[in-house]
Amino acid sequence: MLRKKTLEDIDLKGKRALVRVDYNVPLNGEGNITDDTRIRATLPTINYILDSGGSVILISHLGRPKGKSVPSMSLAPIVRRLSRLLRLEVLFLSDCVGDGVRQTLEGLQPGAVVLLENLRFHSGEIENDPDFSRQLASLADVYVDDAFATSHREHASVVGVPAILKPAVAGFLMQKEIDYFNMAFTEPVRPLVAILGGAKVSDKIKTIMSLMEKVDKIIIGGGMAFTFLKALGYRVGKSLVEEDMLELAADIMGEARLKGIPFYLPVDCIAANAIEKKAQTTVVPAQEIPEDKMGLDIGPATVTLFNEVLNLAKTIVWNGPMGVFELPPFSKGTFSIVETLANSQALTILGGGDTDVAVHATGNSDKIDYISTGGGAFLLFLEKGELPGINALDDA
Ligand code: AMP
Repeated sequence: MLRKKTLEDIDLKGKRALVRVDYNVPLNGEGNITDDTRIRATLPTINYILDSGGSVILISHLGRPKGKSVPSMSLAPIVRRLSRLLRLEVLFLSDCVGDGVRQTLEGLQPGAVVLLENLRFHSGEIENDPDFSRQLASLADVYVDDAFATSHREHASVVGVPAILKPAVAGFLMQKEIDYFNMAFTEPVRPLVAILGGAKVSDKIKTIMSLMEKVDKIIIGGGMAFTFLKALGYRVGKSLVEEDMLELAADIMGEARLKGIPFYLPVDCIAANAIEKKAQTTVVPAQEIPEDKMGLDIGPATVTLFNEVLNLAKTIVWNGPMGVFELPPFSKGTFSIVETLANSQALTILGGGDTDVAVHATGNSDKIDYISTGGGAFLLFLEKGELPGINALDDA
Protein backbone atom coordinates (compact mmCIF):
# COMPACT_ATOMS: atom_id res chain seq x y z
CA MET A 1 0.00 0.00 0.00
CA LEU A 2 1.33 3.38 -1.00
CA ARG A 3 1.10 5.71 2.02
CA LYS A 4 2.49 9.20 2.17
CA LYS A 5 2.32 11.91 4.78
CA THR A 6 -0.44 14.42 4.14
CA LEU A 7 -1.25 17.94 5.25
CA GLU A 8 -3.17 16.50 8.18
CA ASP A 9 0.00 14.88 9.54
CA ILE A 10 1.97 18.09 10.00
CA ASP A 11 1.83 21.31 11.98
CA LEU A 12 1.14 24.28 9.72
CA LYS A 13 0.68 27.02 12.30
CA GLY A 14 2.91 29.95 11.46
CA LYS A 15 4.56 27.91 8.68
CA ARG A 16 5.20 28.98 5.10
CA ALA A 17 4.17 26.14 2.78
CA LEU A 18 5.78 25.84 -0.64
CA VAL A 19 2.99 24.24 -2.65
CA ARG A 20 3.79 22.69 -6.05
CA VAL A 21 0.62 23.01 -8.12
CA ASP A 22 -0.18 22.36 -11.76
CA TYR A 23 -1.43 25.67 -13.14
CA ASN A 24 -0.54 24.70 -16.68
CA VAL A 25 -3.96 26.00 -17.77
CA PRO A 26 -5.12 26.73 -21.31
CA LEU A 27 -4.85 30.45 -22.16
CA ASN A 28 -6.25 32.13 -25.24
CA GLY A 29 -4.17 34.64 -27.19
CA GLU A 30 -5.15 37.52 -24.89
CA GLY A 31 -4.02 35.73 -21.74
CA ASN A 32 -7.55 34.73 -20.68
CA ILE A 33 -7.96 31.41 -18.92
CA THR A 34 -10.30 29.20 -20.94
CA ASP A 35 -10.58 26.41 -18.36
CA ASP A 36 -9.78 26.90 -14.67
CA THR A 37 -10.38 23.31 -13.51
CA ARG A 38 -6.75 22.93 -12.46
CA ILE A 39 -6.87 26.08 -10.35
CA ARG A 40 -10.12 25.08 -8.64
CA ALA A 41 -8.69 21.64 -7.91
CA THR A 42 -6.05 23.16 -5.61
CA LEU A 43 -8.43 25.26 -3.49
CA PRO A 44 -8.99 22.63 -0.74
CA THR A 45 -5.23 22.40 -0.12
CA ILE A 46 -4.72 26.17 -0.10
CA ASN A 47 -7.71 26.81 2.17
CA TYR A 48 -6.66 24.07 4.58
CA ILE A 49 -3.19 25.57 4.99
CA LEU A 50 -4.67 29.03 5.57
CA ASP A 51 -7.24 27.70 8.04
CA SER A 52 -4.43 25.93 9.90
CA GLY A 53 -2.61 29.20 10.45
CA GLY A 54 -0.05 28.92 7.66
CA SER A 55 0.78 30.89 4.53
CA VAL A 56 1.00 29.59 0.97
CA ILE A 57 3.69 30.03 -1.68
CA LEU A 58 2.48 28.54 -4.96
CA ILE A 59 4.91 27.27 -7.60
CA SER A 60 4.01 25.91 -11.02
CA HIS A 61 5.10 25.56 -14.62
CA LEU A 62 3.17 26.75 -17.67
CA GLY A 63 3.99 25.57 -21.18
CA ARG A 64 7.52 24.93 -22.37
CA PRO A 65 9.50 28.17 -22.22
CA LYS A 66 12.79 26.24 -22.32
CA GLY A 67 14.61 28.03 -19.54
CA LYS A 68 13.86 31.55 -20.78
CA SER A 69 11.42 34.20 -19.71
CA VAL A 70 8.57 34.11 -22.26
CA PRO A 71 5.84 36.70 -21.54
CA SER A 72 3.06 34.63 -23.15
CA MET A 73 3.84 31.84 -20.66
CA SER A 74 3.77 34.02 -17.56
CA LEU A 75 1.62 32.83 -14.67
CA ALA A 76 0.52 36.44 -14.05
CA PRO A 77 -2.96 35.98 -15.64
CA ILE A 78 -3.74 33.34 -13.05
CA VAL A 79 -3.54 35.71 -10.08
CA ARG A 80 -6.82 37.44 -10.76
CA ARG A 81 -8.77 34.21 -11.17
CA LEU A 82 -7.15 32.68 -8.10
CA SER A 83 -7.87 35.80 -6.03
CA ARG A 84 -11.52 35.66 -7.07
CA LEU A 85 -11.83 31.94 -6.28
CA LEU A 86 -10.14 32.30 -2.87
CA ARG A 87 -11.85 35.61 -2.10
CA LEU A 88 -8.57 37.14 -1.01
CA GLU A 89 -5.83 39.08 -2.68
CA VAL A 90 -3.06 36.86 -4.03
CA LEU A 91 0.36 38.46 -4.44
CA PHE A 92 2.33 37.72 -7.61
CA LEU A 93 6.13 37.82 -7.77
CA SER A 94 7.77 38.12 -11.16
CA ASP A 95 10.39 35.46 -10.43
CA CYS A 96 10.49 32.23 -8.44
CA VAL A 97 14.01 32.46 -6.99
CA GLY A 98 16.54 35.17 -6.11
CA ASP A 99 17.29 37.50 -3.21
CA GLY A 100 14.31 39.76 -3.86
CA VAL A 101 11.89 36.85 -3.80
CA ARG A 102 13.45 35.39 -0.65
CA GLN A 103 13.37 38.69 1.19
CA THR A 104 9.72 39.29 0.32
CA LEU A 105 8.79 35.80 1.47
CA GLU A 106 10.76 36.00 4.72
CA GLY A 107 8.19 38.32 6.17
CA LEU A 108 5.18 36.40 4.90
CA GLN A 109 2.31 36.51 7.39
CA PRO A 110 -0.13 33.67 8.14
CA GLY A 111 -3.12 33.91 5.83
CA ALA A 112 -1.12 35.22 2.88
CA VAL A 113 -1.05 33.57 -0.55
CA VAL A 114 1.71 34.28 -3.07
CA LEU A 115 2.10 32.93 -6.60
CA LEU A 116 5.62 32.82 -8.01
CA GLU A 117 6.48 33.15 -11.71
CA ASN A 118 6.79 30.12 -14.04
CA LEU A 119 9.41 27.68 -12.74
CA ARG A 120 10.44 26.74 -16.26
CA PHE A 121 11.71 30.26 -16.94
CA HIS A 122 14.82 28.76 -15.29
CA SER A 123 16.53 25.82 -16.96
CA GLY A 124 17.35 24.49 -13.48
CA GLU A 125 13.75 23.32 -13.14
CA ILE A 126 13.78 20.75 -15.93
CA GLU A 127 17.45 19.91 -15.35
CA ASN A 128 16.71 19.19 -11.69
CA ASP A 129 19.64 21.43 -10.83
CA PRO A 130 20.59 21.05 -7.14
CA ASP A 131 21.33 24.73 -6.74
CA PHE A 132 17.94 25.72 -8.17
CA SER A 133 16.28 23.20 -5.83
CA ARG A 134 18.17 24.66 -2.86
CA GLN A 135 17.06 28.16 -3.76
CA LEU A 136 13.42 27.09 -3.96
CA ALA A 137 13.67 25.06 -0.76
CA SER A 138 15.06 28.10 1.10
CA LEU A 139 11.81 30.00 0.52
CA ALA A 140 9.60 28.04 2.91
CA ASP A 141 9.27 25.80 5.99
CA VAL A 142 7.32 22.86 4.53
CA TYR A 143 6.83 21.35 1.08
CA VAL A 144 3.45 20.27 -0.27
CA ASP A 145 2.95 18.53 -3.61
CA ASP A 146 -0.48 18.94 -5.19
CA ALA A 147 0.62 18.51 -8.80
CA PHE A 148 -0.03 14.86 -9.58
CA ALA A 149 0.01 15.58 -13.33
CA THR A 150 3.72 16.44 -13.19
CA SER A 151 4.80 13.84 -10.67
CA HIS A 152 6.21 11.55 -13.40
CA ARG A 153 8.84 14.22 -14.17
CA GLU A 154 12.14 14.36 -12.32
CA HIS A 155 12.20 18.12 -12.17
CA ALA A 156 13.62 20.32 -9.41
CA SER A 157 10.26 21.34 -7.97
CA VAL A 158 8.98 17.76 -8.10
CA VAL A 159 11.90 15.71 -6.72
CA GLY A 160 14.78 18.09 -5.94
CA VAL A 161 12.99 20.36 -3.48
CA PRO A 162 11.25 17.63 -1.42
CA ALA A 163 14.63 15.95 -0.94
CA ILE A 164 15.78 19.08 0.92
CA LEU A 165 12.71 20.76 2.36
CA LYS A 166 11.09 18.68 5.10
CA PRO A 167 8.46 17.78 5.94
CA ALA A 168 7.44 17.01 2.34
CA VAL A 169 3.82 15.96 2.17
CA ALA A 170 0.99 15.28 -0.26
CA GLY A 171 -1.70 17.91 -0.77
CA PHE A 172 -5.33 16.81 -0.95
CA LEU A 173 -5.40 16.45 -4.73
CA MET A 174 -2.29 14.29 -4.70
CA GLN A 175 -3.66 12.30 -1.78
CA LYS A 176 -6.86 11.54 -3.68
CA GLU A 177 -4.86 10.19 -6.64
CA ILE A 178 -2.89 7.93 -4.30
CA ASP A 179 -6.04 6.77 -2.46
CA TYR A 180 -7.86 5.81 -5.65
CA PHE A 181 -4.78 4.08 -6.99
CA ASN A 182 -4.65 2.02 -3.80
CA MET A 183 -8.35 1.22 -4.10
CA ALA A 184 -7.93 0.02 -7.68
CA PHE A 185 -4.68 -1.88 -7.43
CA THR A 186 -3.63 -2.57 -3.87
CA GLU A 187 -6.91 -3.81 -2.48
CA PRO A 188 -9.28 -3.92 -5.44
CA VAL A 189 -12.78 -5.28 -5.22
CA ARG A 190 -12.71 -7.89 -7.99
CA PRO A 191 -13.28 -8.46 -10.82
CA LEU A 192 -10.98 -5.63 -11.81
CA VAL A 193 -11.29 -4.74 -15.49
CA ALA A 194 -8.99 -2.42 -17.43
CA ILE A 195 -10.26 -0.81 -20.61
CA LEU A 196 -7.70 0.82 -22.86
CA GLY A 197 -8.03 2.73 -26.09
CA GLY A 198 -6.46 5.62 -27.94
CA ALA A 199 -4.25 5.84 -30.92
CA LYS A 200 -1.05 3.96 -30.39
CA VAL A 201 -0.04 0.62 -28.94
CA SER A 202 3.53 1.86 -28.59
CA ASP A 203 2.43 4.58 -26.12
CA LYS A 204 0.70 2.10 -23.86
CA ILE A 205 2.46 -1.20 -24.38
CA LYS A 206 4.28 -1.12 -21.06
CA THR A 207 1.10 -0.12 -19.26
CA ILE A 208 -0.75 -3.07 -20.82
CA MET A 209 2.03 -5.47 -19.83
CA SER A 210 2.08 -4.31 -16.27
CA LEU A 211 -1.73 -4.26 -16.00
CA MET A 212 -1.67 -7.92 -16.91
CA GLU A 213 -0.12 -8.61 -13.53
CA LYS A 214 -2.94 -6.88 -11.73
CA VAL A 215 -6.27 -7.04 -13.54
CA ASP A 216 -8.75 -9.86 -14.11
CA LYS A 217 -9.79 -8.86 -17.63
CA ILE A 218 -8.52 -6.49 -20.32
CA ILE A 219 -10.55 -4.71 -22.98
CA ILE A 220 -8.80 -3.04 -25.92
CA GLY A 221 -10.52 -0.56 -28.24
CA GLY A 222 -9.54 2.51 -30.21
CA GLY A 223 -6.91 2.74 -32.91
CA MET A 224 -4.55 0.47 -31.03
CA ALA A 225 -6.92 -2.49 -31.31
CA PHE A 226 -6.04 -2.87 -35.00
CA THR A 227 -2.45 -3.81 -34.31
CA PHE A 228 -3.75 -6.65 -32.13
CA LEU A 229 -6.37 -7.63 -34.73
CA LYS A 230 -3.76 -7.68 -37.48
CA ALA A 231 -1.49 -9.78 -35.26
CA LEU A 232 -4.35 -12.32 -35.16
CA GLY A 233 -4.29 -12.43 -38.93
CA TYR A 234 -7.40 -10.33 -39.50
CA ARG A 235 -7.75 -8.09 -42.53
CA VAL A 236 -7.81 -4.58 -41.13
CA GLY A 237 -7.81 -2.53 -44.35
CA LYS A 238 -6.29 0.93 -43.96
CA SER A 239 -6.78 1.03 -40.18
CA LEU A 240 -4.07 2.37 -37.94
CA VAL A 241 -1.48 -0.38 -37.47
CA GLU A 242 1.98 -0.20 -35.95
CA GLU A 243 3.83 -2.84 -37.90
CA ASP A 244 6.77 -2.89 -35.51
CA MET A 245 4.42 -3.70 -32.64
CA LEU A 246 2.79 -6.74 -34.23
CA GLU A 247 5.07 -9.27 -32.62
CA LEU A 248 4.76 -7.72 -29.20
CA ALA A 249 0.98 -7.55 -29.60
CA ALA A 250 0.92 -11.27 -30.38
CA ASP A 251 3.14 -11.98 -27.37
CA ILE A 252 0.83 -10.04 -25.09
CA MET A 253 -2.23 -11.95 -26.27
CA GLY A 254 -0.30 -15.21 -25.83
CA GLU A 255 0.60 -14.25 -22.31
CA ALA A 256 -2.98 -13.28 -21.49
CA ARG A 257 -4.06 -16.73 -22.67
CA LEU A 258 -1.41 -18.41 -20.49
CA LYS A 259 -2.43 -16.38 -17.47
CA GLY A 260 -6.11 -17.02 -18.10
CA ILE A 261 -6.90 -13.31 -18.42
CA PRO A 262 -9.75 -12.73 -20.87
CA PHE A 263 -8.51 -10.28 -23.51
CA TYR A 264 -11.35 -8.57 -25.35
CA LEU A 265 -10.93 -6.97 -28.77
CA PRO A 266 -13.53 -5.38 -31.05
CA VAL A 267 -15.66 -7.82 -33.02
CA ASP A 268 -16.95 -5.17 -35.39
CA CYS A 269 -16.19 -1.57 -36.17
CA ILE A 270 -17.42 1.60 -37.83
CA ALA A 271 -15.36 1.97 -40.98
CA ALA A 272 -14.92 4.83 -43.43
CA ASN A 273 -12.62 5.96 -46.22
CA ALA A 274 -11.53 9.10 -44.44
CA ILE A 275 -11.41 10.69 -40.99
CA GLU A 276 -14.02 13.34 -41.77
CA LYS A 277 -17.12 14.76 -40.20
CA LYS A 278 -19.21 13.89 -43.23
CA ALA A 279 -17.60 10.54 -43.98
CA GLN A 280 -19.83 7.70 -45.24
CA THR A 281 -19.69 4.99 -42.60
CA THR A 282 -20.44 1.27 -42.61
CA VAL A 283 -20.44 -1.37 -39.91
CA VAL A 284 -18.02 -4.17 -40.76
CA PRO A 285 -16.75 -7.28 -38.96
CA ALA A 286 -13.35 -6.83 -37.36
CA GLN A 287 -12.05 -9.83 -39.34
CA GLU A 288 -12.58 -8.26 -42.73
CA ILE A 289 -12.40 -4.52 -42.96
CA PRO A 290 -12.51 -3.58 -46.68
CA GLU A 291 -9.10 -2.77 -48.12
CA ASP A 292 -9.93 0.86 -48.85
CA LYS A 293 -11.44 1.57 -45.40
CA MET A 294 -10.23 2.09 -41.87
CA GLY A 295 -11.87 1.24 -38.58
CA LEU A 296 -12.56 4.47 -36.72
CA ASP A 297 -14.84 3.39 -33.88
CA ILE A 298 -16.01 0.19 -32.24
CA GLY A 299 -19.21 -1.17 -33.79
CA PRO A 300 -22.58 -1.94 -32.12
CA ALA A 301 -21.83 -5.61 -31.44
CA THR A 302 -18.58 -4.59 -29.75
CA VAL A 303 -20.39 -1.99 -27.65
CA THR A 304 -22.74 -4.74 -26.44
CA LEU A 305 -19.85 -7.13 -25.76
CA PHE A 306 -17.74 -4.57 -23.88
CA ASN A 307 -20.75 -3.41 -21.89
CA GLU A 308 -21.51 -6.96 -20.79
CA VAL A 309 -17.95 -7.38 -19.55
CA LEU A 310 -18.03 -4.01 -17.78
CA ASN A 311 -21.39 -4.75 -16.18
CA LEU A 312 -19.86 -7.74 -14.38
CA ALA A 313 -16.92 -5.69 -13.08
CA LYS A 314 -16.57 -4.40 -9.52
CA THR A 315 -13.64 -2.10 -10.32
CA ILE A 316 -13.02 -0.46 -13.71
CA VAL A 317 -9.96 1.51 -14.81
CA TRP A 318 -10.22 3.28 -18.16
CA ASN A 319 -7.74 5.13 -20.36
CA GLY A 320 -8.13 6.13 -24.01
CA PRO A 321 -11.11 6.60 -26.34
CA MET A 322 -12.69 3.74 -28.32
CA GLY A 323 -12.61 5.67 -31.59
CA VAL A 324 -12.07 9.06 -33.17
CA PHE A 325 -14.61 10.46 -30.73
CA GLU A 326 -13.86 14.07 -31.72
CA LEU A 327 -15.98 13.52 -34.86
CA PRO A 328 -19.69 12.63 -34.48
CA PRO A 329 -19.72 9.62 -36.87
CA PHE A 330 -17.05 7.93 -34.74
CA SER A 331 -18.02 9.01 -31.23
CA LYS A 332 -20.79 6.54 -30.34
CA GLY A 333 -18.50 3.80 -29.07
CA THR A 334 -16.62 6.03 -26.68
CA PHE A 335 -19.75 7.80 -25.46
CA SER A 336 -21.59 4.55 -24.81
CA ILE A 337 -18.67 3.34 -22.69
CA VAL A 338 -18.91 6.61 -20.76
CA GLU A 339 -22.63 5.91 -20.19
CA THR A 340 -21.88 2.41 -18.98
CA LEU A 341 -19.31 3.64 -16.49
CA ALA A 342 -21.59 6.46 -15.38
CA ASN A 343 -24.37 3.97 -14.58
CA SER A 344 -22.07 1.31 -13.16
CA GLN A 345 -22.14 0.11 -9.56
CA ALA A 346 -18.42 -0.59 -9.85
CA LEU A 347 -15.68 1.70 -8.62
CA THR A 348 -14.86 3.68 -11.76
CA ILE A 349 -11.53 5.39 -12.26
CA LEU A 350 -10.31 7.01 -15.42
CA GLY A 351 -7.45 9.12 -16.58
CA GLY A 352 -5.63 10.48 -19.58
CA GLY A 353 -6.48 13.74 -21.29
CA ASP A 354 -8.74 12.40 -24.02
CA THR A 355 -10.76 10.10 -21.82
CA ASP A 356 -11.44 13.02 -19.55
CA VAL A 357 -12.58 15.18 -22.50
CA ALA A 358 -15.01 12.46 -23.64
CA VAL A 359 -16.57 12.25 -20.19
CA HIS A 360 -16.96 16.01 -19.92
CA ALA A 361 -18.49 16.13 -23.41
CA THR A 362 -21.30 13.83 -22.29
CA GLY A 363 -21.87 15.71 -19.03
CA ASN A 364 -21.22 12.59 -16.97
CA SER A 365 -18.23 13.73 -14.92
CA ASP A 366 -20.16 13.63 -11.64
CA LYS A 367 -21.10 10.01 -12.13
CA ILE A 368 -17.55 8.72 -12.41
CA ASP A 369 -15.97 7.90 -9.04
CA TYR A 370 -12.62 9.40 -9.89
CA ILE A 371 -11.20 11.24 -12.87
CA SER A 372 -7.44 11.48 -12.55
CA THR A 373 -5.84 14.86 -13.11
CA GLY A 374 -2.88 13.17 -14.80
CA GLY A 375 -2.38 12.11 -18.41
CA GLY A 376 1.17 10.83 -18.77
CA ALA A 377 1.47 10.59 -15.00
CA PHE A 378 -1.67 8.44 -14.79
CA LEU A 379 -0.38 5.98 -17.41
CA LEU A 380 3.03 5.75 -15.80
CA PHE A 381 1.44 5.29 -12.39
CA LEU A 382 -0.57 2.36 -13.80
CA GLU A 383 2.59 0.95 -15.32
CA LYS A 384 5.03 1.32 -12.44
CA GLY A 385 2.84 1.60 -9.37
CA GLU A 386 5.01 4.52 -8.28
CA LEU A 387 6.13 7.92 -9.55
CA PRO A 388 9.25 10.00 -8.79
CA GLY A 389 7.24 12.89 -7.37
CA ILE A 390 5.31 10.58 -5.04
CA ASN A 391 8.42 8.67 -3.96
CA ALA A 392 9.97 12.00 -3.01
CA LEU A 393 7.34 12.63 -0.33
CA ASP A 394 7.70 11.51 3.29
CA ASP A 395 6.31 8.08 4.10
CA ALA A 396 3.33 8.02 6.45
P1 AMP B 1 -4.34 8.67 -26.96
O1 AMP B 1 -3.77 10.03 -26.76
O2 AMP B 1 -3.34 7.61 -27.23
O3 AMP B 1 -5.32 8.30 -25.85
O4 AMP B 1 -5.17 8.73 -28.30
C1 AMP B 1 -6.32 9.52 -28.44
C2 AMP B 1 -6.60 9.70 -29.88
O5 AMP B 1 -6.77 8.46 -30.53
C3 AMP B 1 -7.87 10.48 -30.13
O6 AMP B 1 -7.53 11.73 -30.64
C4 AMP B 1 -8.63 9.63 -31.13
O7 AMP B 1 -9.15 10.39 -32.20
C5 AMP B 1 -7.59 8.67 -31.64
N1 AMP B 1 -8.20 7.41 -32.09
C6 AMP B 1 -9.03 6.62 -31.41
N2 AMP B 1 -9.42 5.58 -32.16
C7 AMP B 1 -8.84 5.71 -33.35
C8 AMP B 1 -8.87 4.94 -34.57
N3 AMP B 1 -9.60 3.85 -34.66
N4 AMP B 1 -8.13 5.39 -35.60
C9 AMP B 1 -7.40 6.49 -35.49
N5 AMP B 1 -7.33 7.26 -34.39
C10 AMP B 1 -8.03 6.88 -33.32
